[in-house]
Amino acid sequence: MKANAGVCEPAAEPQSKFDFRLVRCRTDNYAVLFHDPESGETALVDAPEFGPVDAALQEAGWTLTHVLITHHHADHVAANEELKAKYGATIIGPEKNRGQIPGLDRGVKDGDKITFGGDVIDVLAVPGHTLGHVAYYMCNSKVVFTGDTLFSLGCGRIFEGDAETMWHSLDMLRHLPEDTLMYCGHEYTLNNGEFALTVEPRNKDLQRRVEEVRWLLREGRPTIPVSIGQEKKTNPFLRPDSAEIRDVLDMHGVENWRVFGALRERKDHF
Ligand SMILES: [Zn+2]
Repeated sequence: MKANAGVCEPAAEPQSKFDFRLVRCRTDNYAVLFHDPESGETALVDAPEFGPVDAALQEAGWTLTHVLITHHHADHVAANEELKAKYGATIIGPEKNRGQIPGLDRGVKDGDKITFGGDVIDVLAVPGHTLGHVAYYMCNSKVVFTGDTLFSLGCGRIFEGDAETMWHSLDMLRHLPEDTLMYCGHEYTLNNGEFALTVEPRNKDLQRRVEEVRWLLREGRPTIPVSIGQEKKTNPFLRPDSAEIRDVLDMHGVENWRVFGALRERKDHF
């Protein structure tokens, strides 16, 4: 667990003053816009596609000032150049992947702080899906942007790291305050939930969550954001210590990361 993760020194006044908007892009990507009405600043987390983000900005009457990139994959950085050209926004993302992030103005690493609208956004390194992957955490607003590291009821594939590295990233995220709302990079929740039920079928919270997810999707609504507390009760990738999961996998007396690795491998073939 990193020294800064989950440690919050709240401002004198709570700053849940931002307006958050989820933007659906491509087939199943999410970008998130948030706006500070006082300073007029607007940030975007990940830039999968120009059209929907631009339309959401115009509808809200906001001018984009910051783009926060979680990792270098094409479906998270595709609109960087166009957004920068139109709005002059500052592109912020992992320094480790500078060469792979178009238009990067400011490279960040674990422990860095980004000032936004009088508030602070903490940069948390969460390697595994990619080695440079970062999460953005706003402790005053109680929001974390996890990109493709943590999904609702799931987690990203391990493309660049190994299971132990990815587990440490997820373990850090699960120690954030339980009322922190998590936004992730994709709408994969139902498929993740169907997998989760195969490894923890008796988990009542998980059963309820999957029902809720089916209902939300039928209504055409997103399944995120969701609280870290809810994910800790239902997401098998945050629950390698669950007795039921360990029974199903027949893995007892081993470290959490090994159980996590076995879960991830099963999901790869689900
Ligand atoms: Zn990715």
